[in-house]
Amino acid sequence: MPNETSTVNPFETAKQQIDIVAKQIHLDGGVLEVLKHPKRELTVHFPVRMDDGSFRVYTGYRVQYNMARGPTKGGIRFHPQVSLDEVRALAAWMTWKCAVVNIPYGGAKGGVICDPKSMSRGELERLTRRYASEISLIIGPEIDIPAPDVYTDSQTMAWIMDTYSMQAGYSVPGVVTGKPIPLGGSEGRGEATGRGCSIVIREAAKDAGIRVKGAKVAVQGFGNAGSVAARLLYDEQGAQIVAVSDSKGGIFKADGLNPHAVEEHKQKTGSVVGFPGTKAISNAEVLEAKVDILVPAALENQITAKNAPKIEAKVVAEAANGPTLPEADTILFEKKATVLPDILANAGGVTVSYFEWAQDIQGFFWPLAEVNQRLDRVMVQSYADVHKVAVEHKVHNRTAAYILAIQRVVDAIRLRGIYP
Ligand code: GLU
Repeated sequence: MPNETSTVNPFETAKQQIDIVAKQIHLDGGVLEVLKHPKRELTVHFPVRMDDGSFRVYTGYRVQYNMARGPTKGGIRFHPQVSLDEVRALAAWMTWKCAVVNIPYGGAKGGVICDPKSMSRGELERLTRRYASEISLIIGPEIDIPAPDVYTDSQTMAWIMDTYSMQAGYSVPGVVTGKPIPLGGSEGRGEATGRGCSIVIREAAKDAGIRVKGAKVAVQGFGNAGSVAARLLYDEQGAQIVAVSDSKGGIFKADGLNPHAVEEHKQKTGSVVGFPGTKAISNAEVLEAKVDILVPAALENQITAKNAPKIEAKVVAEAANGPTLPEADTILFEKKATVLPDILANAGGVTVSYFEWAQDIQGFFWPLAEVNQRLDRVMVQSYADVHKVAVEHKVHNRTAAYILAIQRVVDAIRLRGIYP
């Protein structure tokens, strides 16, 4: 989803966010420097045989940002615009995200520069397996546990699990999460990011005095997170979904869309665009639609100082990672919008990843109702923790979530001490 801000370096944004919090909690120089540096970065260049018999060299990364609180955790994305700085930022955000929901992980992220939409299934499988083999040096159930992210899915995780297991000589289901259920995946993982987002919207709406029932919602990015959030807000909370988009464009319908039907249309045609009875709008227009709740669920750098003044939503729930630039945060805060920051609003995914990993290690699996109940509990508690810090420190929710998360990481660093 390229736009005029796609040149903003997300790692610069990530470091700016750390600095804002460091001032709030009077963080000392040395520890602050630790927080602003990734612990370990691996870059790999590897050949992949294409269907026509030729081979191409691809570049991939795996960054383990901070492991003070446990093994590192975070997804792998396949996208033409992946860069090392983007992966660093995403790995930092995973560190804070795991700390906000208080699960025993550090943060990591991986990415491969490729255009998965133009590759065959065979090419994607070979690329995934070779990348998995290249990063197998530093992943493992007790080291670093990948999961799906942009344009990767449960099949990608199945290939990684198999590749890693073939090298080990036995099955290692706990090496990745977001796997298909027959391979040790968890019930509810596929929906977890969208479900977690809909839970925090429900909780925040109570504090903001907004009724979700009948509220108008716009969702930018009708993918894994956005489409589920839209469906659950519609099915379980009675919200009206008026605008949605994907990488090809957006659609608008003033009296509401049925997200189930939109999903079917997307399955059939590859996009939400052209859904009968809707007006075509751009991705940028989705953000500025006249709605009560906005869910940015696509890529980074979407809400900027330029479009933030035009955002009408009273609640902005970040299902995507890093959709809002720091200067836009201030504008939204001044407009009294409730921003539910990414490290809280999309943490449902990694929370159920944690449940999946715990189930794999025990070899004991939980029914869907139990997964969803536990997820609800974690999200309700995490939202309440963030809200409490926001009120106490008189800051907006993003800074509050960062204060909570960074304090937890700093506590772990201090308790462990600096080696040697
Ligand atoms: N890629 C997801 C995220 O950004 C999930 C990560 C995970 O489950 O480890 O939170």
